[in-house]
Amino acid sequence: MRKKQFKAESKRLMDMMVNSIYTNKEIFLREIISNASDAIDKLAFLSLTDDKVGLSRSDFQITLTVDKENRVLTVSDNGIGMNADELENNLGVIAHSGSRAFSQENADADLSDTEIIGQFGVGFYSAFMVSDKITVITRKYGEDQGYRWESSGVDGYTIEPCDRDTVGTDIIMHIKEDGEEPNEYSKYLQEYTLRSLIKKYSDYIRFPIKMLVKKEDTEEYETLNSMVPIWHKKKSEVTQEEYDNYYKEHWMDITAPVCTIPISTDGTVSYEALIYVPAEAQTMYYTEEFKKGLQLYSSGVMIMDKCEDLVPDAFNFIKGVVESPDLSLNISREMLQQSRQLSAIRGHIEKKVKAELKKLMETNREAYENFYKYYGRHFKANLLETYGMSRDLVSDLLLFYSSTERKLVTLEEYVNRMSDDQKYIYYATGESVSAVDDLPQAEIVKDHNMELLYLVDPGDEFLPGALGTFMDKQFKSINDDDLGFEDEKKETDESVYKDAFKFIKDTLGDKVDEIKASTRLKSHPVFMSSGDGITFEMERYFNAVQPGVAGAKAKRILEINTDHDAFKALDAARKDDPERAKKIATVLYNQSLLIAGLPIENPTEYTDLLVSLF
Ligand code: ADP
Repeated sequence: MRKKQFKAESKRLMDMMVNSIYTNKEIFLREIISNASDAIDKLAFLSLTDDKVGLSRSDFQITLTVDKENRVLTVSDNGIGMNADELENNLGVIAHSGSRAFSQENADADLSDTEIIGQFGVGFYSAFMVSDKITVITRKYGEDQGYRWESSGVDGYTIEPCDRDTVGTDIIMHIKEDGEEPNEYSKYLQEYTLRSLIKKYSDYIRFPIKMLVKKEDTEEYETLNSMVPIWHKKKSEVTQEEYDNYYKEHWMDITAPVCTIPISTDGTVSYEALIYVPAEAQTMYYTEEFKKGLQLYSSGVMIMDKCEDLVPDAFNFIKGVVESPDLSLNISREMLQQSRQLSAIRGHIEKKVKAELKKLMETNREAYENFYKYYGRHFKANLLETYGMSRDLVSDLLLFYSSTERKLVTLEEYVNRMSDDQKYIYYATGESVSAVDDLPQAEIVKDHNMELLYLVDPGDEFLPGALGTFMDKQFKSINDDDLGFEDEKKETDESVYKDAFKFIKDTLGDKVDEIKASTRLKSHPVFMSSGDGITFEMERYFNAVQPGVAGAKAKRILEINTDHDAFKALDAARKDDPERAKKIATVLYNQSLLIAGLPIENPTEYTDLLVSLF
């Protein structure tokens, strides 16, 4: 029979497995058992609506069989099984769920192989860490023909028809000979090791995992796992480590979650849940393929692996399990989507997650900031996507850099620090903290000893609009004409400068919309403002997402510090040396562009012009 080759990325992984770079070999059993449990889940789900399955919940089981003499460990299940195509597609390529993420991570080569395995889990392939040959004998539910898949590792695999009486799958692992380390692989043929591995990794599997064990003279099947799902247990009965391990194993994360939220209620809908907030986002989170969802169980049967309707959009990153006895079992998946019960549960989960995140923010700011690094932008995006509807939910979860605290602060902290004579929440937008630090128009707010928030992420410009007010305080951009410092408004008599401004406008033409005397510049000569409408950040943003969109251009108002020597020089030159005055006007204009973070039209021309003034 012709051997088929593994797909390229699987082959590389297989190499790693066979050569066992990964030290934690024992996890293979967890992977194989979790596949068996998934396969049973699938058939158990079918059995709810299909009488022909002929099995009831208590019939489902996973069995471990050990043949020490021949060094064979077999894991059998009476789940859904696979046909020839599925064997080919499922076992001929790398671990399904992790594969895309794996190839992506693979592209940037600095992640070590071990990390990749730890991060994504590799399912079935991990069995090659302890086996030199694996045989899979399986028959799919609803089909008569059984199949045998066999492989000794990298050199490929074979698939052929075989006899099999019952539906289900046997994973037959031929365990490697021990190397230099005594008992290195033989331990996986020992009852003690298998028993403790099941306890450690697979205790919560909801089907019995049975093994034939010696009892004095007789042998009998013993169930090795407790089968009580972790979310059914009281919070006081579970350690944080157990919660963390459950999370890591089920959602393939190497980092423990930052919040663990067990829920048990008997309200309008009764349900139990175990919700996690991941500490960091996996690469997948930022891709198009990411799908939010929680696992949904009803009376011990998983009805959906990723139920989107249970997850509030603002908190799309949560992971976990929900079980509700109220959901009728033979409900179709489509009907489920409209279920009122689901939205009631979602509303409740939303409140719980929000409360936990606030608690984290208050009790462990460092952990919260780390979490925020990954998900802060999602909160903001959610605010914008909902046109501010989600403000009550997310506004107090936001963090902004503060000019006075020199660290990230919440809006509530800001407002609580406001003095009686401060009317507004002042903010400035820019590319980075240091860019905002250098903004000339920030000077006046700082001079008034008022705190300034820095909005430095793409799209931040739109947040004040979406937020409206916070604790009844309005937001005020430092680009705004009227910053509310009535007391210090500089008196400027524009008419005195009428001729000078007309000269500058004539020189610059359409490049600027207006020239005016600035009321806020202190040490800087010029500054470009955009007035009340579209701001430069919005213009930049629109240009980035949809270049050339009509109306997405900010006004250009050149504000001039009439006390500054540069302006005085221009004004004087206007009479004696108009050419020089034009040059100064052009230089000032370009300076204002640079400060506003706008591109200057012709850098070489500008540099030549500047130098010509010396
Ligand atoms: P993953 O479980 O992450 O998808 P695996 O490599 O562990 O990746 O398994 C690949 C696929 O092979 C599974 O998704 C499943 O479709 C199939 N499979 C593995 N083991 C079994 C089994 N015991 N019964 C039925 N299908 C199985």
